[in-house]
Amino acid sequence: MRKKIIAGNWKMNMDLPAGITLAESLLEKLTDVRKCDVIFCPPFPLLNPIYEIIRNSGFGLGAQNLFWEENGAFTGEISAKILLSVGCQYVIIGHSERRKYFSETNKTVNYRIKKALQSGLIPIVCIGETLDERQTDQTEFVIHTQMQQGLHGLSRREIANIIIAYEPVWAIGTGKNATPDQVIDVHQYIRKLLRQWYDDHLSNSIRIQYGGSVNEENAEELLSQPDIDGALIGGASLNENKFEKIVLIGELNS
Ligand code: PEP
Repeated sequence: MRKKIIAGNWKMNMDLPAGITLAESLLEKLTDVRKCDVIFCPPFPLLNPIYEIIRNSGFGLGAQNLFWEENGAFTGEISAKILLSVGCQYVIIGHSERRKYFSETNKTVNYRIKKALQSGLIPIVCIGETLDERQTDQTEFVIHTQMQQGLHGLSRREIANIIIAYEPVWAIGTGKNATPDQVIDVHQYIRKLLRQWYDDHLSNSIRIQYGGSVNEENAEELLSQPDIDGALIGGASLNENKFEKIVLIGELNS
């Protein structure tokens, strides 16, 4: 069985004192969580201080992006090597906000995924359609394109190490989550592609999270589905009580 994975994407929220308080209280509240993976993805400058809090706890640390070059004159960018040195194990790649506001394309997403994998970071690869694309029946086309181009050139061994986050853009930060049926349809389509391009075993073993307005109220109906391997959570990950409840729901359904 695939282990559920609950990741909190803090986005550009929380300053250092607030981030420390949140991580410390969640660590205290969630000490008994064993069956599901929990990951914090704070802004870059908070990564190492949060790592110092959660090291040895079993919780994971993820960055929200990386740049694919090894090092050099790339002002404002962060390399995989720097992320590893501050304690990261995971990195979110291709979030729709990066695609929308920072012109990321499937091609640059592909470069980032490759660099993450070569460096030993686990990429959480975000894919998903806009409302317009869903309403015009292009969801599968968009998912197909994002996967084909984003995962281009990855070996079977490399791809086995990625996590996919299906995040319909219309559900992110809107308070309007996708229904379990909508999520399952897309997750099954993703698995079908993985089966066609690789094999059954790989398709069945990759973890696919759902992201988009997951909160403490809708988490049960989503996380109780065997085909939904966890959640990538924005807004609700900033509230210790909400995030605690979601993680406990993930744990109970693991
Ligand atoms: C996200 O940013 O990945 C996300 C799912 O945000 P929210 O939970 O706020 O919709």
